[in-house]
Amino acid sequence: MGLTIGVDIGGTKIAAGVVDEEGSILETVKVPTPPTPEGVVDAIVDAVRQVSTGHQIEAVGIGAAGYVDDKRATVLFAPNINWRHEALKDKVEQRVELPVVVENDANAAAWGEYRFGAGQGHSDVICITLGTGLGGGIIIGNKLRRGRFGVAAEFGHIRVVPDGLLCGCGSQGCWEQYASGRALVRYAKQRANATPENAEVLLALGDGTVDGIEGRHISAAARQGDPVATDSFRELARWAGAGLADLASLFDPSAFIVGGGVSDEGELVLDPIRKSFRRWLIGGEWRPHAQVLAAQLGGKAGLVGAADLARQG
Ligand SMILES: [Zn+2]
Repeated sequence: MGLTIGVDIGGTKIAAGVVDEEGSILETVKVPTPPTPEGVVDAIVDAVRQVSTGHQIEAVGIGAAGYVDDKRATVLFAPNINWRHEALKDKVEQRVELPVVVENDANAAAWGEYRFGAGQGHSDVICITLGTGLGGGIIIGNKLRRGRFGVAAEFGHIRVVPDGLLCGCGSQGCWEQYASGRALVRYAKQRANATPENAEVLLALGDGTVDGIEGRHISAAARQGDPVATDSFRELARWAGAGLADLASLFDPSAFIVGGGVSDEGELVLDPIRKSFRRWLIGGEWRPHAQVLAAQLGGKAGLVGAADLARQG
């Protein structure tokens, strides 16, 4: 049957799902994410054991935020969980007695979209995930490209503004400071401060203050035509599209796939991203254009992708 398990390690929950060869999830188990690094390993093992019951499982794929080494075994560095050279593959393999593959979560999501989502039929695909930050994945010639040391496709930390905004990574002017969910909230707060009369719907959705504005309020307000909310999406899209034009110069893919929470807004954000992409694409009149597509698998892309990468071994 070829069933494998995909594991997605989120900030609050760890999800493990049994996935078949078509990318369908047959069963899912969720457990809370513990606060300690050892606790997270225990929770992964626990979730894998629970969800395996009654299934013939061949392998386990784990998607983890952070740098994963070229052997897909060790998490070199994770920003959220305190993992430093964590031998995750060995630790989990010993306890679940199945082959384990560890992959960067954005790479796993990109692979999921390429195999079973918006990237089907394309051989060269670049994915960006607009979540709290900005993650990426590279598929060229039908292969996931991880770089020599396993840590390629960290697009969010390309410096797009010299001496720009300080980033959590310690650098300045990183792309994710301008194109991400966090950037969207910053744009909305700045605009609502400057012109509160254009943010009446947006402010009413929260507690009425600029500080109380959250991402979900901006989405809801934009759908109702709130000028500050729609303009904030446009600003985010301007930065996202310009970055995709740069990535086209590097990789020349036939499709860009835009995923993550921000992309749930569909054409509201994709249409201005396409406009900005065309604006900044070099030689745009004389060359084929990559399509800019919305991700199709939503929050399941990472789990499904990790499971499929485990099947490929
Ligand atoms: Zn950065």
